[in-house]
Amino acid sequence: MQAYSTNHTSPRVSLKEAVLQGMPPDGGLYMPERIPDLPPAFFEALEEYSLQEIAFRVGHSFFKAEVPENDFRDLIEQAINFEAPVVSLGEELSILELFHGPTLAFKDFGARFMARLMSYFIRNDERELTILVATSGDTGSAVAHGFLGVPGIRVYILYPRGKVSTIQEKQFTTLGRNITALEVDGNFDDCQRLVKAAFTDPDLNQAMALTSANSINIARLIPQSFYYFSACARVRNRKKPVVISVPSGNYGNLTGGLIARRMGLPVARFIAASNANDIVPAYLASGDFAPRDSVATISNAMDVGNPSNFARMLDMYRHDLSAMRADLAGSSWTDEQTREAIREVWDSYGYLMDPHGAVGYLALRDYMRSHPESGTGLFLETAHPAKFLETVGPLVEESVKIPDRLESALHKEKLSVPLSSGFDELKSYLLAR
Ligand SMILES: *Cc1c(COP(=O)(O)O)cnc(C)c1O
Repeated sequence: MQAYSTNHTSPRVSLKEAVLQGMPPDGGLYMPERIPDLPPAFFEALEEYSLQEIAFRVGHSFFKAEVPENDFRDLIEQAINFEAPVVSLGEELSILELFHGPTLAFKDFGARFMARLMSYFIRNDERELTILVATSGDTGSAVAHGFLGVPGIRVYILYPRGKVSTIQEKQFTTLGRNITALEVDGNFDDCQRLVKAAFTDPDLNQAMALTSANSINIARLIPQSFYYFSACARVRNRKKPVVISVPSGNYGNLTGGLIARRMGLPVARFIAASNANDIVPAYLASGDFAPRDSVATISNAMDVGNPSNFARMLDMYRHDLSAMRADLAGSSWTDEQTREAIREVWDSYGYLMDPHGAVGYLALRDYMRSHPESGTGLFLETAHPAKFLETVGPLVEESVKIPDRLESALHKEKLSVPLSSGFDELKSYLLAR
């Protein structure tokens, strides 16, 4: 299949090229030229399919021409090797838990799939692929774990010294093998600037095959459609269409849902659930897209002031606001409301939400109250609550159990390489590898 840029000026490329390039030269985002329709038989059998089987069928409908069936099955088995269970809190309220991967957040789906796909595409190349990624926290650990031990690929993660939490830092600095963490004496913007400078540096590009692994890669978007199919087949009340609330920052997760719907999944409505960074809900209300500096909240993975995937959403709806509104509602919630929701759901159901999922819950509850006949409700839990102990701990009486995967990283030795924020030091470091 071919991919085009949402800016429509760069030439079309194959999906393989789009995955390896990351971003088109015109600064848009790649989209698949066609969103395949899945056959009725697929939807009839949906309840019987495992998440892996769904991932295989949905994913292969995009990558048919690029990856033969058996190879694609192997790839899915390695990438999607954890579950996405649905937990019901009542007849009309379900939770899709997306935190059962190695870094306990939904970004594991995209990062693992992208890593395996890139490795597959370069399997016959002589040169190793070098991935550079700047992180302020969560993306770094998902990417690091996604690529850990993947043949033919080296990963360098640049992160700002002293500006990520201890848990986050331990998750990507203790891995070793093909993953190197570079601890930059600067802030996140410095890390991004260094990565950008590296991509445009002729000497580095001569010496190594460089690419990025950031969230706008099409290979991270497509796997974020898989679990919507399994979730809709697993909600308690399957007689009604499902209303799905997605806690959002860069809107990759939500765009994955819109793609699933275009492929034929019957979803009544999506809800863009945001914290104080309410750029998309504000757009849905007013028709004005007004990016601005992000503000810090307790659902910090959603602190985005200029959501990158909005370009894909606009493109999917041909810039037609009323068409987008028909599929998508939106609302935004304060930290205080988020804390109250965590407490309330814990007290009523004994279920502990993380701050991101709690924003999804609030938006869903509000929507269902004002649209009581609209369907059955589902919200996405995008991270394990133990990743946000400082926030959720004080809200509940019981102590929060830290999963072993997280706990064991805390006891490992940090292996990062200190760097200044000057480009020359990064450049000579990389050239010496
Ligand atoms: C990244 C992230 C989000 C936001 O997802 P987008 O695809 O950027 O909208 C929500 N919750 C958690 C825990 C995340 O890590």
